Amino acid sequence: MAFEVTPLPYPDTVLAPAVSAETLSYHHGKHHKAYVDKTNAAIEGTDHADKSLEEIIAAARGSDQGLFNNSAQSWNHGFYWNSMAGEETSASDELKSMIESAFGSVDALKEKLQERGAGHFASGWVWLAEKGGKLSIEETHDGDTLADKDGVNPLLVIDLWEHAYYLDHQNARPAYLKALTTEKLNWGFASENLARGKTWTYS
Ligand code: MN
Repeated sequence: MAFEVTPLPYPDTVLAPAVSAETLSYHHGKHHKAYVDKTNAAIEGTDHADKSLEEIIAAARGSDQGLFNNSAQSWNHGFYWNSMAGEETSASDELKSMIESAFGSVDALKEKLQERGAGHFASGWVWLAEKGGKLSIEETHDGDTLADKDGVNPLLVIDLWEHAYYLDHQNARPAYLKALTTEKLNWGFASENLARGKTWTYS
């Protein structure tokens, strides 16, 4: 079964000025689509054709770098679109209390995400994740993902590739991170991921 590009869960204008409709037209319409198309082309007629994207990622890790990169990038982008919201969202009591234990406050977590995202060398992803009942910030390089990492439950992700911010902020990754973390993270999605455990699947 061929995979499709995850529909945007909001109109393409609501993430501005953090992420403009023009950026989304390339990032969602071209970059994400290319990863999905390449994944579909690679699995067609193979043993992977009927597997879930999560199963394909796990099977390709360490054995088929091309398929791994394209399938993991497909998954990461689907998760990223859901990690953002156009309207204000809030963390559940459970998430809020875990954020306060780990980082002090939601604002302090936002600053930490900005700092880690800005300090990440080259392309990759910065995540808020839950491991063994505690929250942490994780980084993955290039197309790497937390989708198939046992015991790590991703709650939110931010794309650190230049294609995510260059049209809006040029080389200023910190400006993108500040705008995105300040106003556009989907704390409702993070709360759902925390409550249900590692069950978000790409579809
Ligand atoms: Mn991207």
